[in-house]
Amino acid sequence: MDCIFCKIVGGEIPTTLVGESVHSIAFKDIAPKQPIHILVVPREHHGNVAELAFANPEALVDLVQLGSKLAAEYSTGAFRLTFNTGAAAGQTVFHAHGHITSNTPKK
Ligand code: AMP
Ligand code: ZN
Repeated sequence: MDCIFCKIVGGEIPTTLVGESVHSIAFKDIAPKQPIHILVVPREHHGNVAELAFANPEALVDLVQLGSKLAAEYSTGAFRLTFNTGAAAGQTVFHAHGHITSNTPKK
């Protein structure tokens, strides 16, 4: 399957990793829309967050835990976690991922 986030998970495409957990990895968004813009991505391929929630709820909880830990590390604690779901909602990469965004960076 030609999936850019599977390639990042597999190490075929380089990225700026900022965190890892059992089920998830986190890296900086290549085109940040806020001072903090981190993507949290399940290691397993699922097309969007809804599919992930039904197929592997434990991996979704792990993703939210990793994202909130990083939000606390990189920002003052106020953040958004966004899952664009479907092309009409702005989803462009069809491997589930959450956007951690914040405009109150800590470092
Ligand atoms: P979405 O539009 O919700 O599917 O989000 C996809 C996000 O992935 C966008 O914010 C892109 O900037 C980001 N993105 C695409 N390719 C890469 C990459 N190679 N490394 C980091 N972020 C990427
Ligand atoms: Zn994938």
